[in-house]
Amino acid sequence: MERVDRLKKLLGNRKLDALLVTQPQNRRYLSGFAAGDPNISESSGALLIPRRGRPLLLTDFRYQLEAEAEAAGFEVLIYQRGLLDLLGKILVGRGIKRLAFEGHYFLYRTAGKLEVLAKKHAIKLTPTTGLVEGLRLRKSPAEIEKIRAAVRLNEQVFQEVFRDLRPGMSERQVAIRIETLMREKGADGPAFETIVAGGSNGAKPHAVPSGRALRAGETVVIDMGLVLDGYCSDMTRTVVLGEMAKNTRDIFRLVRKAQKIGIETIRAGATGAEVDRAARRIIEQAGYGKRFGHGLGHGVGLAVHEGPGLSRRSKRKLKAGMVITVEPGIYLPDWGGVRLENMVAVTEQGCEVLNSDTTFLDM
Ligand code: ZN
Ligand code: ZN
Repeated sequence: MERVDRLKKLLGNRKLDALLVTQPQNRRYLSGFAAGDPNISESSGALLIPRRGRPLLLTDFRYQLEAEAEAAGFEVLIYQRGLLDLLGKILVGRGIKRLAFEGHYFLYRTAGKLEVLAKKHAIKLTPTTGLVEGLRLRKSPAEIEKIRAAVRLNEQVFQEVFRDLRPGMSERQVAIRIETLMREKGADGPAFETIVAGGSNGAKPHAVPSGRALRAGETVVIDMGLVLDGYCSDMTRTVVLGEMAKNTRDIFRLVRKAQKIGIETIRAGATGAEVDRAARRIIEQAGYGKRFGHGLGHGVGLAVHEGPGLSRRSKRKLKAGMVITVEPGIYLPDWGGVRLENMVAVTEQGCEVLNSDTTFLDM
């Protein structure tokens, strides 16, 4: 209930009576209810966190058993005629007059229905953004331990697949092998669609694995992550099968240097923008600035992409307990890409690198 209590305090500060939580990771973070949503229009339930009193989990028959087993301290209520129907009765019954909802994770269509309901009962609606996400930014030691386990398992999967990589295998075959191994080794599943991008496909940072066969000498970008006990890992390795050409090696070294400088810049008190700038400068000075077109990294936790960001726009100061990726890359059309991605946990003095895999570190 410590997480719920922190949220209640925020509601009190904002003079809100309750928050309706619809974002799946927020729902899990606060309640322990682990169900996922197939998509934003089909929910496995919502939380209603009142400023005072016991928090509620509203769900339907399909999730009743999980909800009652997992959401310790929550009152589980089952709706028969949809979430809003039950919600309306609760709001009226409890005299909730100022209701907040997650404006960044609420369908416009549903919001319209909620407005009708609120009007009928003279309830003031307040859309909020990122209230619970803010609580999720700093991870507890127990959360970092779970993330570390997810990172470790991800590396084991990578090592096994890497051993068997051969020219002639298709990107898609490699991706399937990775995702199968993740599940075989006990992951809840992949954290995102695995990227395997050989040769020129690697110039697209978010390439989709194709039937294209891997060739000796080209770069192969493998970006993979898994979910273990709800927490995500995210790692990119770029590998070369066979001989590595000198210019490829030079680009590798440059990206690795940028990653190293980025990691060395991370500490509590530095802003995401400062860290991004330190790493980006290395790539810019070598003349590849325009070929590194994305931010340096992002937070990871229950979601694979969450706060804080490491980019030019990240003015917020890093704090101990945040977990972030550091993933510089250089992408050259018609040639390919090199991206290296590790995860770190921010500490007061610096950071702890959560990865131990050292593929190609000896070049
Ligand atoms: Zn990644
Ligand atoms: Zn990433």
